[in-house]
Order: sequence, then structure tokens, then C-alpha cells
Amino acid sequence: MCAATAAAQGQSVLIVDHADKAGKKILISGGGRCNFTNRFTDSKNFISANPHFCKSALARFSAYDFIDMVETADISYHERKHGQLFCDDSARDILEMLLAPCRQHGVTIKLNSSISSIDKTDQFNIETTQGLFSADALVIATGGLSIPKMGATPFGITIAKQFALNINQPVAGLVPFTFTGIEKESLKSLAGISLDVTVSCRNQAFTEAMLFTHRGLSGPAILQISSYWKPGDAIAINLLPDMNIHEQLISKKQLRPDAQLSTILSELLPKRLVQILMKDGMGENKMRQLSDKQLQTITTLLQSWQLKPNGTEGYRTAEVTVGGVDTNELSSKTLQSKKIPGLYFIGEVVDVTGHLGGFNFQWAWSSGYAAGIAISQR
Ligand SMILES: Cc1cc2nc3c(=O)[nH]c(=O)nc-3n(C[C@H](O)[C@H](O)[C@H](O)COP(=O)(O)OP(=O)(O)OC[C@H]3O[C@@H](n4cnc5c(N)ncnc54)[C@H](O)[C@@H]3O)c2cc1C
Repeated sequence: MCAATAAAQGQSVLIVDHADKAGKKILISGGGRCNFTNRFTDSKNFISANPHFCKSALARFSAYDFIDMVETADISYHERKHGQLFCDDSARDILEMLLAPCRQHGVTIKLNSSISSIDKTDQFNIETTQGLFSADALVIATGGLSIPKMGATPFGITIAKQFALNINQPVAGLVPFTFTGIEKESLKSLAGISLDVTVSCRNQAFTEAMLFTHRGLSGPAILQISSYWKPGDAIAINLLPDMNIHEQLISKKQLRPDAQLSTILSELLPKRLVQILMKDGMGENKMRQLSDKQLQTITTLLQSWQLKPNGTEGYRTAEVTVGGVDTNELSSKTLQSKKIPGLYFIGEVVDVTGHLGGFNFQWAWSSGYAAGIAISQR
């Protein structure tokens, strides 16, 4: 996006990438259909030490600007829940849409190129396996640390440090949770079960599907909350978010006093889950035997099931990196370093991380566009 924008404004642009193909993360995104943006993109959908930083770039190149590009390129797309937009056919359409203007405006793309050093004299000098290149402006767009198997590296962070820019500690985000001990064994026995829940942590809450896996918990609700979770935190899960559970239990007690609690709960939740929740034997009670206090305890358990992850699956499976180049180091309008004129950081390497749902690509497009325009106006 940045290269195409700058080249369309008449700049001579070279992209250096160590991968064997451009835009590999686009190709694997959204299950191969690329969730390329979100109709409801707003600064509230981003995590950053400075929540206002993303506003300028998002305003100047919005989700609707990207949708215009997609429609102009005749790419058919569809909307899924919460405003998420996906290609009908293939993520390749989005990649091709970005590569076409690069070709048209003469951008050179050097793939399979490792960068051994970068220094700054009156220009930036970039030493690569394909030769030495010099440029007035250098844009670092090396992404986050997730999926190292696909070529993700901490390169952007290393370069930021080399130029004495501050970093906000990167951690894996949009990532499944892992557990140890009894919790791990219990959750393992539920592997494959998926249900809609509200999961909360650190004053954030997401209502989406949650999936039990052999390692712990995954699914959209869990991925979303993982970007806020810190080691040592417990998460609270409302297993029946659409229901007034206490009222339900009182009414069942009146209507079916001889039914067992576990029978009643198994009508609301998967049976295997009820067995885990009722492992203290409480489920064997008949409804009429349960006091109001006990009904309240059961309500609290179902509304706020507390689990303490021991960690996450890490960058191996994370969709994004939370943290990165401190936004205080950059202009929000141009993405240029305040200390090093001509040096820009865009996309995921910056401490701006989107929620799940197309926001991370929108940040990449918006910040890339902002830097592309800024370079052309230097
Ligand atoms: C499995 C998966 C699915 C995703 N699905 C979605 C989705 O549907 N919607 C969404 O909004 N977001 C999605 N994301 C997140 C999204 O892919 C990223 O936020 C986005 O690609 C970031 O763009 P970027 O340009 O900053 O970095 P990237 O797209 O990661 O590009 C960085 C580039 O830098 C190159 N590079 C890295 N290190 C070096 C180095 N040392 N030398 C030379 N080149 C280097 C890489 O090869 C790569 O080409 C997904 C992520 C993953 C992992």
C-alpha cells in the first residue's frame, strides 16, 4: 500500500523482502479469503499505549476508502457478522489489487533479499544480499513476530533500537490460552466443544464463540481477550450470556422440583461441560433440595467461571503482536520518526494492534497510505 501510494505520486520505490513471495500474510489470512477490513473501524478497535494515535491515519484512509479500491478492482466480497468483510473468492485478489499499481508505477520488488545492515549518512544505506541501496526515505514495514515459520522476524524492532527509538514490549496477541495441571486435564476432556460466551479480563469483555482445545481455550472470544490478558490474570467466562440464569434456576425449581440440577443444566449447556462444572457432586441434588444461597452460587459459577491460563500458545499461532515501536516516537500524521527524519514505521511493527475482524489489515492500509503520501510531500 505504501509503495503503491508513493510510486503513484512519482516516487522511485524499492521493496526489499526476505520472503520468496510478496504479501504472504495476506494469502493465509481469513482462511484464504482475507478479512481485508471492517465496516465499523474505529479507534476503539485498537490497542495502543496511546489510543488516539491511530485516529489520524484511519481518518485519512478509512475502511470505506479501501472498500472503494476493492470495488473499483471488481473484487466480489461479502460481509460476515460485526462488519467483517471477506473476499468471495480468494485473498489472492487483494494481493493482486495491491501489486497491480506497484507494477504500473514502476515499483521494484526484490524478494529473497536479506538485509545485513542499515546506516544513515546523508541518506539511508541498506546493505542486502542483492547489493547496496541508498534512499532518502526508509519505511520499515516488517510486521509483527507472529508465525516465524512464515518469515516474521524482530527486524523492525532491532532497527528501531539501533536508532534509539523506544519500544513497548511486544507480546503475542489474538492467541489461544494454555493451561496446566487439573485445569488442563479438565479442559482437554472438553476438546471440540464450542459455545457462545462472554469472556472478560481487565475491564474488557467480548461476546463470541469459545472453543475448547486439547491445549486449552481458543475461538474468537478467547483470541480477542488474549490481547488484553497479562500473565497471572484470571479470565471470567459467562457461559450463558443471553440468559438471566438466576431467574431460570428459580423457575425450574418451581416447575420441576424433582429434576436433578445436572439434568437441568444439561438442557442449557453441553453435558460434558456440566460434568466438569459439577464435579463437586452438586449436580446430583434435586432442584427442590437447593437453597437460594446454593442457586446463587451456581449462578455465579455459570456467569463468571474463573479460569487462570498459565500462558498462551505464543507467536507460533498468534495472529498479531501487541506492542512494538512506541507511538510517542512517531508522527501520527506521517508515521515518520520524530528523531530520525526520513525513517518511517508502518503496520504491525508499530504499537497499534487491532481487534480480530479486519482491523489489523485496515491499520496496515491506513498507516501505509499515510506514509506513502508523506514521503511524496517531503
Ligand atoms: C494466520 C493469520 C491470519 C490473519 N488474518 C487476518 C485477517 O483476516 N484480517 C486482518 O485484518 N488481519 C489478519 N492478520 C493480521 C495481519 O496479517 C497483519 O496484521 C498484517 O499482515 C500486518 O501487515 P504488515 O505489512 O505490517 O506486516 P506483514 O504483512 O507481516 O509483512 C511484513 C513483511 O516483512 C517481511 N520481513 C520480515 N522480516 C524481514 C527481514 N528481516 N528482512 C526482510 N523482510 C522481512 C516479511 O517477509 C513480510 O513480507 C492475520 C495474521 C495471521 C498470522
